[in-house]
Amino acid sequence: MKNVWKVAAAVLAACVLAGAPAYFALREHRALGEMTARADSLRAEADSAEAARDGLAGELSDAQSRLEGQGAELEAARSALDSADKEREALAAQLEEARTKIEELSQTPRFDPDGPAYQQLYPDFYAPQPLDASQAPARVIYLTFDDGPSVQTGRVLEILARENIKATFFVVGRSGAASPDTLRAMVKAGHTVGMHSWSHEYKTIYASVEAFLEDMYKVFTLIRDETGVTPTFFRFPGGSTNSYDYGIYQDIVAEMLRRGFVPCDWNMSAQDATKTPLAPEQIVANILSAGNVARGVVLMHDSKPRATTVEALPALIAALRERGYTFAPLTPEVKPTLFNYKNYEQMP
Ligand code: ZN
Repeated sequence: MKNVWKVAAAVLAACVLAGAPAYFALREHRALGEMTARADSLRAEADSAEAARDGLAGELSDAQSRLEGQGAELEAARSALDSADKEREALAAQLEEARTKIEELSQTPRFDPDGPAYQQLYPDFYAPQPLDASQAPARVIYLTFDDGPSVQTGRVLEILARENIKATFFVVGRSGAASPDTLRAMVKAGHTVGMHSWSHEYKTIYASVEAFLEDMYKVFTLIRDETGVTPTFFRFPGGSTNSYDYGIYQDIVAEMLRRGFVPCDWNMSAQDATKTPLAPEQIVANILSAGNVARGVVLMHDSKPRATTVEALPALIAALRERGYTFAPLTPEVKPTLFNYKNYEQMP
């Protein structure tokens, strides 16, 4: 039996002796495998880090070139801005030049070189603004007083102030030159001052178109210089058509309209230019006899013998107010009022 154990021991020993190297070799082999795997994974990590770095480097280079591109764009934009600035300056200079030219042209009289020579007379005898005759409201009364200033003017101004009414005075230059303070008082109170000739002498002013212009230019400069307001309206002494101007009134009207002035006849009259003064009631009745006009231009006289005209004013104003009228001074929106032309009465 002892032999059996010996054999067994010998076999075991042989096995151990034969197996140990194999065992150790196996262990070494495993460690090597693990290290190789680890090295592989590290290499892979290194590879991907490198790829990431390459990617970032690429992005950086892209960003740099974009930045360079933007720099160039910025530079281009700057120089475009510079040249736009220069262009703007050049245009502003051109605009200024055009403005000056317009200013010069607007001060140059607008006459027709083939027209009558009198168009070139008095190059500053022009109304201040172009006629715009479309705006006047209906049911308005324009009270007008001719031939002043006179001893009556102060009372007329008082009544108008009390009634809060603005009116129009067609003044005679000769009388106005004698009392320029009254002209200024009219303007200061908000009334319109129109031209009614310098001399009021029919034979003189209606001798020719040139004679008419010469006379009117004198009253024009008087009003302009004494009041600071350039007149636009004028009234023909005796009305636009009378036995003195019948041959030339159309030429006068055309020439004055060309210069921007607005002629003003009337459609309601006090008929107060009588030898014996009328009673105030008669004056009111005369004016109201015109009937229910859309717009009334009332002719009255402001002169020494016309005290009853002044006395008639309060009753006249009350009667017109009762008929629904309001009062206004003549302003450039009001259409020309001429006996022989379509006038305010036919207006809508
Ligand atoms: Zn008159």
